[in-house]
Amino acid sequence: MSSVRDSRITVVGGGAVGASVAYALAVAGHDDIQLVDAADPAAATTAQAAGLVGQPRSTVEATRASMEAAEFYRRMEADLGVSSDWRETGSLRVALSDETAAEYRAMADIAESAGLEVEIVDGARAQELCPGLTDVSDVRLALWCPTDGFVQPNSVTAGYLAGARQRGVRVMPHTQVRELRITDGRVTGVVTDKGEITSELVVNAAGPWAGALARTAGIELPVVPVLVQYLITADTDVWSSASPCLRIPEVQVYARGEGRGLLVGGFENNGTSIAPETLDSDSTIARHENWEVLGEFVEGLSRVVPEITDLGIRTVFTGWPGFTPDGNFLIGPVSTLPGLVMAAGCNAHGVQGSLHIGRHVVESLSGDVSPAVAAMSPDRFIPRTWSWEDARRSAQAICENYYPRVPQRA
Ligand SMILES: Cc1cc2nc3c(=O)[nH]c(=O)nc-3n(C[C@H](O)[C@H](O)[C@H](O)COP(=O)(O)OP(=O)(O)OC[C@H]3O[C@@H](n4cnc5c(N)ncnc54)[C@H](O)[C@@H]3O)c2cc1C
Repeated sequence: MSSVRDSRITVVGGGAVGASVAYALAVAGHDDIQLVDAADPAAATTAQAAGLVGQPRSTVEATRASMEAAEFYRRMEADLGVSSDWRETGSLRVALSDETAAEYRAMADIAESAGLEVEIVDGARAQELCPGLTDVSDVRLALWCPTDGFVQPNSVTAGYLAGARQRGVRVMPHTQVRELRITDGRVTGVVTDKGEITSELVVNAAGPWAGALARTAGIELPVVPVLVQYLITADTDVWSSASPCLRIPEVQVYARGEGRGLLVGGFENNGTSIAPETLDSDSTIARHENWEVLGEFVEGLSRVVPEITDLGIRTVFTGWPGFTPDGNFLIGPVSTLPGLVMAAGCNAHGVQGSLHIGRHVVESLSGDVSPAVAAMSPDRFIPRTWSWEDARRSAQAICENYYPRVPQRA
């Protein structure tokens, strides 16, 4: 078995984010990069993600970025030799209220400005596009995007790692980082269960453990693990992996086909989180299923798919992605501790967003940082003027309001 060695850059974490960061750094010409993960790459939060890739957004810039990400995942096999398992199913954003309908009309205008093909459709047309939508009586309209789809998150991670390895990145699974090593006020490497690694730069892409890992160097950052889950039903006659992805903000639910079953997930009204200051860098985060909340997702989706209440449940996916109190990523160098770079706090957007997270890290290390990337700097939380309790409450609220909350119809 190979052992760790010194490297100019060590990336801690081989989920979608760490893998993308390693790939992006290598593409940008950084050399001597090593990625370490306590387990196998993509075995933690990334393995649980639904992999939805949605392009219509509330700004032209965000829409273009999402289009670029979709194109990257579409081309991953041709470019990197590993398929992202991209499925171009199209998607329907379903409005059950006038407020959401107005929002979708505005998004359609933005999509058009960005050059993204979308169409506003009525309930009957939505049903034609997605026969599994058996009750469209409450549907005001839907925003149809034919080029949306989903990926398999593990495959995306494998693609980044293949691209990274092709460019000389060394990948070390089953290597637990116990703490960041500090010499003369800067990070000079990491201490692992396989020995010490000396590095000029350490990128902390440890997912929900990122805050705990930073704390080993005395840096307090609010990365709050919040419970996110979905279920997959037993086989149906109507749904398949080719069915359009659905998003229904009024009931905080999304859905798509998985095999011949229906995958149903969402964002609960009263979130569940872990007090971030209680986690250690080697803590086990226990798997947790909340059946009451999963039942609410089913009830929500039953507004448009009434049959769901009769379907058996095949399996549940669940995890604790890291959220931040302001809903923005935590990306870039920590200026009070040279040598430490963050790539965390993805707010349950770390698979779709992984391409740009990697690129943002590269930009944050360059001399030319855009205002958008500067706004992601961990420095905004340093020194700690916030309380752990407030940070936890705010981060949880970001998850609870993942889809903008709009009044529900009776
Ligand atoms: C049910 C569910 C559905 C989701 N659906 C979507 C979706 O549709 N689209 C989307 O974009 N996102 C989705 N997400 C969110 C997405 O999963 C995360 O944003 C993303 O996976 C975060 O990736 P990551 O690499 O930061 O974290 P992780 O995948 O958790 O990776 C962190 C890695 O760091 C390693 N690590 C941690 N500490 C150490 C240490 N001390 N030493 C060495 N290694 C360490 C871990 O072993 C792990 O492999 C979903 C999440 C869940 C739970």
